[in-house]
Amino acid sequence: MATMTLPETEAQESKRSTTKYVYFFGGGKADGNGKMKDVLGGKGAGLAEMTNAGLPVPPGFTIQTEACREYMRTATTSKEVERQMDEALAALEALQGQKLGTGENPLLVSVRSGAKFSMPGMMDTILNLGLNDKSVEALAKRSNNPRFAADSYRRLIQMFGNVVLDIEKSAFDEVFDAKKKQRKTKFDTDLTAKDLQEVIVEYKKVVKKHTKRDFPQDPREQLVMARDAVFRSWQNDRAKSYRRINNIDDLLGTAVNVQWMVYGNLGETSGTGVGFTRNPATGTKEFYGEFLMNAQGEDVVSGVRTPVHILELHKIMPDVYDQLRDITTRLEKHYKDMQDFEFTIQDEKLYMLQTRNGKRTGLAAVRVAIQMVEEGLITKEEAVFRVEPNQLYDFLVPRLDEKKTVVEVLATGLPASPGAAVGQIVFTADEAVKKAGHGAKKNPVILVRAETTPEDIDGMEVAKGILTSRGGMTSHAAVVTRGMGKCCVAGAGDITVDEKKREMRVKGQTFQEGDWISLDGTTGRVIKGKLNTIPPKADDPELLQFMSWSEPFRKMKVRANADVPRDAVQARAFGAEGIGLCRTEHMFFGEKKIKHMRDMILAREEKYIPAALLEYNKEKGARVSFKELEPAAQSEVKERAQKLARLAALKQLLPLQRDDFAGVFKAMDGLPVTIRTLDPPLHEFLPRREDLMVDIALLSRYSAKQKKELVAKYKDYGVKGVGDLKKALPPLLARVEQLHEFNPMLGHRGCRLGITYPEITETQVRAIFEAAVDCTKKGIKVLPEVMIPLVATLKEMANQGAIVRRVAEEVFKEKGTKVEYMVGTMIETPRAALVADEIAKEAEFFSFGTNDLTQMTFGFSRDDVNKVLPTYLAEGILKQDPFAALDQEGVGQLVKMATERGRKTRPTLKVGICGEHGGEPSSVEFFYRTGLNYVSCSPFRVLTARLAAAQAAAAETLKVEGGRTK
Ligand code: ADP
Ligand code: MG
Ligand code: MG
Repeated sequence: MATMTLPETEAQESKRSTTKYVYFFGGGKADGNGKMKDVLGGKGAGLAEMTNAGLPVPPGFTIQTEACREYMRTATTSKEVERQMDEALAALEALQGQKLGTGENPLLVSVRSGAKFSMPGMMDTILNLGLNDKSVEALAKRSNNPRFAADSYRRLIQMFGNVVLDIEKSAFDEVFDAKKKQRKTKFDTDLTAKDLQEVIVEYKKVVKKHTKRDFPQDPREQLVMARDAVFRSWQNDRAKSYRRINNIDDLLGTAVNVQWMVYGNLGETSGTGVGFTRNPATGTKEFYGEFLMNAQGEDVVSGVRTPVHILELHKIMPDVYDQLRDITTRLEKHYKDMQDFEFTIQDEKLYMLQTRNGKRTGLAAVRVAIQMVEEGLITKEEAVFRVEPNQLYDFLVPRLDEKKTVVEVLATGLPASPGAAVGQIVFTADEAVKKAGHGAKKNPVILVRAETTPEDIDGMEVAKGILTSRGGMTSHAAVVTRGMGKCCVAGAGDITVDEKKREMRVKGQTFQEGDWISLDGTTGRVIKGKLNTIPPKADDPELLQFMSWSEPFRKMKVRANADVPRDAVQARAFGAEGIGLCRTEHMFFGEKKIKHMRDMILAREEKYIPAALLEYNKEKGARVSFKELEPAAQSEVKERAQKLARLAALKQLLPLQRDDFAGVFKAMDGLPVTIRTLDPPLHEFLPRREDLMVDIALLSRYSAKQKKELVAKYKDYGVKGVGDLKKALPPLLARVEQLHEFNPMLGHRGCRLGITYPEITETQVRAIFEAAVDCTKKGIKVLPEVMIPLVATLKEMANQGAIVRRVAEEVFKEKGTKVEYMVGTMIETPRAALVADEIAKEAEFFSFGTNDLTQMTFGFSRDDVNKVLPTYLAEGILKQDPFAALDQEGVGQLVKMATERGRKTRPTLKVGICGEHGGEPSSVEFFYRTGLNYVSCSPFRVLTARLAAAQAAAAETLKVEGGRTK
């Protein structure tokens, strides 16, 4: 049997061997090309394309992504991959007339990772591979430059040690810094050949100590180990979290590029640099970049030496400069997009090492897209896809003014939360509050921490911006600041924050409390000194021009969530086509209103017992006093008294709320406004139960000052002076206890409030329609849509709908004017989605409350999910925070089903969504595909939603798949 299966296996083997794993590039032509990003990765595809275009690219080969995927599956590399690699290596050796790491003229290569989407700094490159104790001698002789040879070898050990052997960078840095200190020099370039040889000896000891074996001397073994390390690096934590945040598929894998080394560190006629064909921060059409003479690889970006502006190259080597300009201009024309390139000059000869579509700010994305349309490089349709919807947020936050100042970038961290912030450094939250929090002498501060924790909240609140040296895009600092709309640079690893000494050290400079820095949260730059900021401009002419190209594609409407007139005005300025959610409860937090709101909730009956009793006696035809009543009748009277108390408070609220509605209607003249009746659990308006308990328990021990503070704290609850405290607090606690719920989010809220206390709905509806009629009389076009929250059954909807319609008619009759309106519901319980066909009998519109719907579908508490979420994301159990990007697979099904079922009953049913997801591009695209009429999001996301909706529709019409710059 075994012998019989053997030939078959061989046949399979040979069939599989038709897979092309290795793609060669060099000598003016390449096996692959620029379109093969899936196979070759972005870097490999770029190298192939540049080679085919006849550009000076050091030759080499790319091991394609399939080999990485196989490695992930099997933890090994197949014989076929090995065979093809050796073949390519032999071809490279033949082309260059060298042998890998051997002979008088050893072949040396770099091993570079490169996935389909660029993942900056995610996987490290190894340079100078092939060097060993012997070939380093050959290199020294051949180059006639022992210092250069030793420098290259020590770099190899360092990079190989870190990337392949997993040795901490710091282990090597310690050795290197000690040597510099011993030689009393500041720059790497000051160390001599002998110094570097000593460093190599020490480096090898580091390797031996950490790995219990010597640094591998066999060049091919070095290559194999490096290749596999690149494959493994696809799975490291940094790479994983980057992919998660940027929504990149985990299964893509990375390619490995093996490339002939060229040297920028051969002396003063050599150098290395990076650049952009246009300014990636502002979009200005200018040659932009930096370089260093006598340097290699990452020296330019690592901040060890200060690089020089690329225009200086024109003075040093005019011919090379012209050639570089010419090549990069050609590349830009070829790719029809702004390029981000890397180059090295070896002995005055230019080599191109990388080119890709450059990452840019939103501002630059819009500008570059417009320029390229004007230059005839792309069409207006293509331009629509050149801007990521989220990037438009950049137009709504302040920016740094970099025009007239020299900008010294101290470090670049993660662009955790966009915008700009300029201020004086503080190292603790307390200090931030002290400096920035009070009075007229407010100082702008930047809170600088290694990492932030929940205790820093107060400091973060008052700071202009936050800078951390550790943590990623989902760190506490990043998440919290994004929520606050505050600028943040996170994980700026080059910065050392010494909280004890209250010092920040970077690039050999020390900064103390009070020193000025500027943050650019859009690019992640930390800049020395005090720059000016430019305020945001939503009516930027270029933005408007760009939007005028995208808008004709858009079919789905975009509304905004706005609770107060000011937000509505703002939303309209950003292009909102209505209000999708006006939350009435937010109106109550105002100074004048909160007291009445609390009165309404507390419904203190004492004052109203006589009136309730009168009512009771009248109804029963009796004449008894309260004391004479049976206990059951007593509680009935009490309940009536409570209702009267509620009504009295509501009566105070009514005119105030009516004014608010009128303000919103006025701001949205001619556009629909969806107003939701009261939704949150009532205890949210009351003091915390625990606080009350503590205050009552400690009251007798509080000082006079503390008691005064208590009076202020409880002044809305009938506490007028210190003397009232003892009497007023216990009944307040009793009421709070009464309202206390174990799961308030699943409790007495939403339509359940309006059903148990119909007078609340009645009052709110009255306020809405009185305002609507008043506005109509003034010539304002009002389109109110009254929305009932948290409905799960048809009867709930019918109950509240009836109140709305009855009160509306009452108001119309009283005022002698009618307005058109609609009554509808939020779909935010799974049950409502399931019986949407039923509910649509009573509801004229649906608006998905995807926050609650996500909460209830997953059974995740939105307020506590952060205890679980980090682990879930790290383990890959969830790919994204479902409260940020809609869970299309699960929650999305409910959305789809409810829309279909609702429209079956009522074909004209208007369907929208008003959760956080309404401003998140991938969710917006889903809502478009599902056939929703509109999305509604916060005013600051309206631009993003508009572009996302336009792109979704344009992709359909133009039959393009995304096509945007990744
Ligand atoms: P990243 O993806 O992080 O940009 P790269 O693979 O582009 O990593 O390489 C890191 C650095 O090493 C870059 O500065 C690049 O120019 C340089 N480099 C890579 N390969 C070579 C080579 N064959 N010769 C000279 N420099 C190289
Ligand atoms: Mg690179
Ligand atoms: Mg809700």
